Amino acid sequence: MTAAAAEKPRRTDWNTLIREVISGEWRDPETGKRCDVPFETIRIEESLDGGAADLVAPLKIGRKLAVVSDTNTFEAMGRRVAKELKGWTSVEEIVFPGDTHCDEPTIALMQEKTRHCEGCVVVGSGSLSDTVKFATFKDGRKYASFATAASMNGYGAVTASVTLRNGYKTSVPAHAPRGVFVDLGVNAVAPAWLSAAGLGDSLCRPTAQVEWWASHRLFGTHYTKTPFDIFNVENDEAEMIRTAPDLAKHSTEANGYLYRVLMQASFGNNIVGSSHSGSMGEHQVSHWIDMFAGSAHPGTTHGQQVGVASIALARLHKLLVSMDKPPKVSPTRISETDFVTRYGEDIGGLMLLKRRKRRSTPWMPR
Ligand SMILES: [Zn+2]
Repeated sequence: MTAAAAEKPRRTDWNTLIREVISGEWRDPETGKRCDVPFETIRIEESLDGGAADLVAPLKIGRKLAVVSDTNTFEAMGRRVAKELKGWTSVEEIVFPGDTHCDEPTIALMQEKTRHCEGCVVVGSGSLSDTVKFATFKDGRKYASFATAASMNGYGAVTASVTLRNGYKTSVPAHAPRGVFVDLGVNAVAPAWLSAAGLGDSLCRPTAQVEWWASHRLFGTHYTKTPFDIFNVENDEAEMIRTAPDLAKHSTEANGYLYRVLMQASFGNNIVGSSHSGSMGEHQVSHWIDMFAGSAHPGTTHGQQVGVASIALARLHKLLVSMDKPPKVSPTRISETDFVTRYGEDIGGLMLLKRRKRRSTPWMPR
């Protein structure tokens, strides 16, 4: 623990503000509206040991449940959650390999393996959670999520990050879990590089805000600062940065603040109705690496890439605002053939379609 952390009284309630937003008490200061969230509950606790049935039962996701974990998360929490749920309902335990990717064949396999169950409980992080999210979305079943590492901000999101058959990695509409449960004790002992990835993903807040605001000022697109104000209400982002060095020491407090920021990013997504408040140029850089690095891909995670790209983009922003004269912007002209030559038949074609769609947005370069 750092010296500064030692001086502060230990936080015990990790759900303030989160609880108010979910219950509808919280109002958007700009519009007076509640934030409609797509899940029934989020609980961040120091320990959830013994409580899985009490947490899952009220969600009404079914009486025959698949508890899905992978070879890493089964030992960390999957076995325990399955055992606790078995005291209440019928459970089928399904364990995937540790390196599960959220791609189309894996999603189909998830549907097949869990098809006898009414609902799913996923015990895992990033890819496994997104695989269950998209598989249950496809066949109209509900699911709940027990997070095992603070590695990403998508636990409560309604979108899933999926690699399509042609290799194109994209964010696709899906559904949110009915409940997200975080046992900080379990999460704190996860490998430190996973929570570092979550920290990296969270670092995009300032660059995303600057780029979204710039788009608003330059092109008149919609912008609201509410998602960013939420971060400041309880100073969570500052606390996350203050305690960040303790992530490497597996501190529950550092994981607690990180989770609060990760969850509030999901709220931002719901307030805005898009990913603008938490995904801009830095995310494009990361997706680009994943799609085109091929065998040169260093095996880095989404969060690690976003963290580094956020710093790079912040430097670029600084350079732009320090220029004596405003930079001249001109349309990027890429021919149809160029798209295919650069990105290949499949992905090039898909990107071309996306670009054509954007042409209907008046401010986009034509
Ligand atoms: Zn991200």
